[in-house]
Amino acid sequence: MLTEQTIQAFRASLRGKLIQPADAEYDAARKVYNAMIDRRPRLIARCVDVADVIAAVRFAREHELLLAIRGGGHNGGGLGVCDDGLVIDLSGMRGIRVDPSERTVRVDGGCTWGEVDHATHAFGLATPSGIISTTGVGGLTLGGGIGHLTRKCGLSIDNLLGADLVLADGRFVSVSAKENSDLFWAIRGGGGNFGVVTSFLFHLHPVRTIVGGPTLWHLDQTEKVMRWYREFIVSAPQDLNGFFAFLTVPPVAPFPEALHLKKMCGVVWCYAGPEDQAEKVFAPIKSFGPPALYGIHPMPYPMLQGAFDGLYPPGHQWYWRADFVKELSDEAIALHARHGAEMPTMQSSMHLYPINGKVHEVGKGDAAFSYRDVNWAAVIVGVDPDPANKARITDWTKRYFDALHPHSAGGAYVNFMMDEGQERVQATYGGNYAKLATVKKQYDPGNLFRVNQNIRPTQ
Ligand SMILES: Cc1cc2nc3c(=O)[nH]c(=O)nc-3n(C[C@H](O)[C@H](O)[C@H](O)COP(=O)(O)OP(=O)(O)OC[C@H]3O[C@@H](n4cnc5c(N)ncnc54)[C@H](O)[C@@H]3O)c2cc1C
Repeated sequence: MLTEQTIQAFRASLRGKLIQPADAEYDAARKVYNAMIDRRPRLIARCVDVADVIAAVRFAREHELLLAIRGGGHNGGGLGVCDDGLVIDLSGMRGIRVDPSERTVRVDGGCTWGEVDHATHAFGLATPSGIISTTGVGGLTLGGGIGHLTRKCGLSIDNLLGADLVLADGRFVSVSAKENSDLFWAIRGGGGNFGVVTSFLFHLHPVRTIVGGPTLWHLDQTEKVMRWYREFIVSAPQDLNGFFAFLTVPPVAPFPEALHLKKMCGVVWCYAGPEDQAEKVFAPIKSFGPPALYGIHPMPYPMLQGAFDGLYPPGHQWYWRADFVKELSDEAIALHARHGAEMPTMQSSMHLYPINGKVHEVGKGDAAFSYRDVNWAAVIVGVDPDPANKARITDWTKRYFDALHPHSAGGAYVNFMMDEGQERVQATYGGNYAKLATVKKQYDPGNLFRVNQNIRPTQ
């Protein structure tokens, strides 16, 4: 039992706010991006510096509280919040410092990717992230990080040079290839299992303007498009990224009215190579089909990063299922065509993110993220603003997943999973799981950090 006196002493040890159920901001502070998640923590420590994080970790351990770490709060399964325990909310830690001469950026643990892109774009630089600007750097990076620059620059973790962490015993450590290299290995894919990351150091690439946008085809073309795409994207120049999607065309400009609210299939492209080569690179895409909509333009990189933000504001119901995929067989494509056509709501979707190109240049055992030989991370999301549609979006997602899972590589990208049990977590880390469990035992033997895709310490 926590006494009022104990809580007051904890509050006095923090520079940031300690939020409790009776406080006016409690409901806003416990809300996460996915409105299906409704958890009520006992305390929320909105940390503003490393000292606050150390105090909060120690408090949780001493009082045996369930502990969740909140970065951007985007996690599908709601792993940035817990019932009853303590939430370390990093949203008050958002400093960013670009070093243009070293081409690095130091990012605090509570930043979102839009904030990082804003800071680095001013220098004509970028590091790979995801496809939505409001996603947290913390969770996305610690799980791997897949996005528009994946084929050219690798995963976010492949560009991580170092990090600062507060460990389960309250110690503060820096990790890199040279310092605490076992922990550095583990956090590159192992999620929030090993400590609270208070800052990340990323390598930056010269990326200012990209050529990108969607190409869309009518659904009766799905099988033909997917068969073409599966060959094209694995051998395309690494400067080109393109994820396949089933989507419903939003009823807004710049989409032509004739396509509004039509279910279609398409690819969202991002070419980050020399602009004078773009026409040549896009020529086979433009001529294939040809697409019903060809929306490729030069644009600042952050514009593409924010392109889906309006379609996916916080507060919708989300149900997620995912798999890694090595090959897209004709049989799998036929199943995709069937289930893609049955998308239950406007925001529901299926994406196939390429994880080839640069990602394949890193060995399976070089970081915790082990699926280095597959070609896609597939994700099926049932999404809708109306809670009354929860069952519809959930049923469609599960049906689609059950049909395609036998055609997958086994595990799934941890950041696209909900609570799917230990077997799934182990399948995802494959041959790296045993080493992860050993590192976990060394740094978090009591499993303090367990509100995540949990790696259990070896016994
Ligand atoms: C709309 C949307 C689009 C997405 N698009 C992409 C995409 O393009 N590419 C991609 O790779 N992923 C994508 N994701 C998935 C995303 O990577 C995960 O949801 C991720 O967990 C979000 O990180 P977060 O910090 O916002 O989440 P949170 O919910 O805050 O945290 C998620 C997990 O990470 C841990 N964590 C977060 N920050 C820290 C930290 N600083 N230290 C230690 N542990 C921490 C938490 O404990 C928790 O277990 C998307 C998600 C959404 C909702």
